[in-house]
Amino acid sequence: MRPAVLDPVFAPVASLPGVGPKNAKLFDKLLDRPQGARVIDVLFHLPYAALDRRARPKIRDAKLDAIATLEVRVVEHRPPPSRRSKAPYKVLVEDDTGDVELVFFLANLDWIKSRLPVGATRWVSGKLEMWDGHLQMVHPDRVMDAEELAKMPPVEPVYGLTEGLHPRVVAKAAQAALARLPRLPEWLDGASAARLDAPSFAEALALMHRPEAPGDLDPAGRAATRLAYDELLANQLALLMIRARMRASVGRANAAEGRLARRVLESLPFSLTASQRRALAEIRADLAEPKRMLRLLQGDVGSGKTVVALSAMADVVEAGRQAALMAPTEILARQHFERIRPLAAAAGLRVALITGRDKAAERRQALAALAAGEIDVAVGTHALFQESVAFRDLGFAVVDEQHRFGVHQRLALTAKGETVDLLVMTATPIPRTLVLAYFGDMDASALTEKPPGRAPIDTRVMPIERLDEVIAGVGRAIAGGARAYWICPLVEESEALDVAAAEERAAALREFFGDAVGLVHGRMKGPDKDAAMERFQRGETKALVATTVVEVGVDVPEATIMVIEHAERFGLAQLHQLRGRVGRGAGRSSCLLLYKGPLGEAARARLEILRETEDGFRIAEEDLRLRGEGDVLGVRQAGQPGFRLARLEVHGALLKLARRQAEAALAASERLGGEENRGLRLLLYLFERDEAVRLMEAG
Ligand code: ADP
Ligand code: MG
Repeated sequence: MRPAVLDPVFAPVASLPGVGPKNAKLFDKLLDRPQGARVIDVLFHLPYAALDRRARPKIRDAKLDAIATLEVRVVEHRPPPSRRSKAPYKVLVEDDTGDVELVFFLANLDWIKSRLPVGATRWVSGKLEMWDGHLQMVHPDRVMDAEELAKMPPVEPVYGLTEGLHPRVVAKAAQAALARLPRLPEWLDGASAARLDAPSFAEALALMHRPEAPGDLDPAGRAATRLAYDELLANQLALLMIRARMRASVGRANAAEGRLARRVLESLPFSLTASQRRALAEIRADLAEPKRMLRLLQGDVGSGKTVVALSAMADVVEAGRQAALMAPTEILARQHFERIRPLAAAAGLRVALITGRDKAAERRQALAALAAGEIDVAVGTHALFQESVAFRDLGFAVVDEQHRFGVHQRLALTAKGETVDLLVMTATPIPRTLVLAYFGDMDASALTEKPPGRAPIDTRVMPIERLDEVIAGVGRAIAGGARAYWICPLVEESEALDVAAAEERAAALREFFGDAVGLVHGRMKGPDKDAAMERFQRGETKALVATTVVEVGVDVPEATIMVIEHAERFGLAQLHQLRGRVGRGAGRSSCLLLYKGPLGEAARARLEILRETEDGFRIAEEDLRLRGEGDVLGVRQAGQPGFRLARLEVHGALLKLARRQAEAALAASERLGGEENRGLRLLLYLFERDEAVRLMEAG
């Protein structure tokens, strides 16, 4: 149970002054807490900017287009010429050095008259501008008497808002929330404290919500860094605790000499690359140990993850157990199955495909065979992990391209067998910082080189105005036997529009290429999609117009041309993935990135990077730099919370430090027991690392 000392910060937001039921709902929305925002959520809703009201110049000395707080006398009211006029209501104010017009559009007259009576001394704060030769302040942010001035924060935090929620309500709630923060023990250890030179957690929050200078909000500043570190520390503690728990369930050693795997490898027309050999050795070492494997196999599209996984599966089968390979989509599961089958046959492995779309009779038969142990390797979609699927003795699960899965899903997945070793393959190379942050509970192997003999892809960036040329070029290529993908624009949040665009493009291309044009999109029924893909695979169609369904790994080595329309709308990693669909065979491939100008700076940078390099790891780093971590991993789309305070593109370097502290703490006490760990326990509650909290409490 959460320690009572934290109750005040987990109280509902409505317990804060100025937050009634209506505002509370708005806070729920603003803070993305459908179950009800709490005080802690307000505390973690950091201001994104600060208005500096410290300048108190005389009017003559005031800087234009900057915020000033002026002490003035009210001289005269200047209402618009007629009641119907749209002209603003103006109030002339002055000091000894000059005068300023305060300008109010759609003015609330009663308010103006009561707040700015002629002859009164007032302080007004807002942005000063020159207009038509006059100094003016349009809608002063503040109109104050002496008493109110004394209460004005000299540097005012600015918060993200939602419609209907007044900025003052948020500011006031944040101030009140600060007061609810209990005294907490310090949880930084000596080394981290020394490195960070940090204020305490409470001081850091206070600095953010009550900045003394705009620089206090700097994401790389002391306060933000401290808070980011705390979140990363909670994250690393949680990941390490989960990992320890998974490891603790005693795995079984899979004793294999590699006899079957050797047969698989011997049936290949190529030999493994150095990084494939290294990755396979790492996986084998895990499999052979009597503890559970949790490993990430990263490698660009086409880097050859499949044979590595299959060889490892062969070891497990040799050790007398079963293996499963799970793909994210039906198409991919089928493709894995087709590609694995001949290799598996060479080693005598019995492989079955199990998806959600099998015919009932076939499915029953396959499931019975699986339960009886007559199938060695099951390939499928998530259908593999449904209740109704039973293995005789599952020893090894390989999950392909599942970087969108979180810790929870990984836990659920391995529940099929207490001692299932897990290998997650991701085709998006992930920057090192992200591996640590999101997969800190896993070991990682990386395929850093492409199989030999792949010619570089000729990547060109062109304006859409040159479409005719592109069509002519593609036409010549397919007349010469080439195959081309043609990817259609991604229209934000509307699959229907994606589809319409793809259909339209397919129709247009048919005018040139006739029946050689195929179409596949996200709204098609599974079998139709598969059929369209298969026609392209077999070469019955030569140009495949597609929405992004081909993104996740479909393999047609004969395809050598990739056209991407509206490339400026795609993310960097996504473009890289799409491009990876070509350049898989020995032939020379090209990728045409068609954009519609004018290009924004970020879009230009993305396309430029793509033109420069095919190195997925470098592209991933750039992607992180350009977009921030949530988008790189796709966690936002998947609706998973990323970090609330830490921004990995800024704070990623702290992960190692956090990792070190977490490791040291858990080495001393695996359930974070004892008085000296009280701070760390509170930290896990504060950041709601629930899985870790459960493990901690179970101890
Ligand atoms: P990934 O799953 O990493 O995208 P695949 O495993 O699908 O990559 O491999 C892509 C292609 O490269 C396949 O056709 C595969 O047979 C081939 N391949 C894999 N390893 C090698 C290698 N060492 N040398 C040559 N070709 C390879
Ligand atoms: Mg693959």
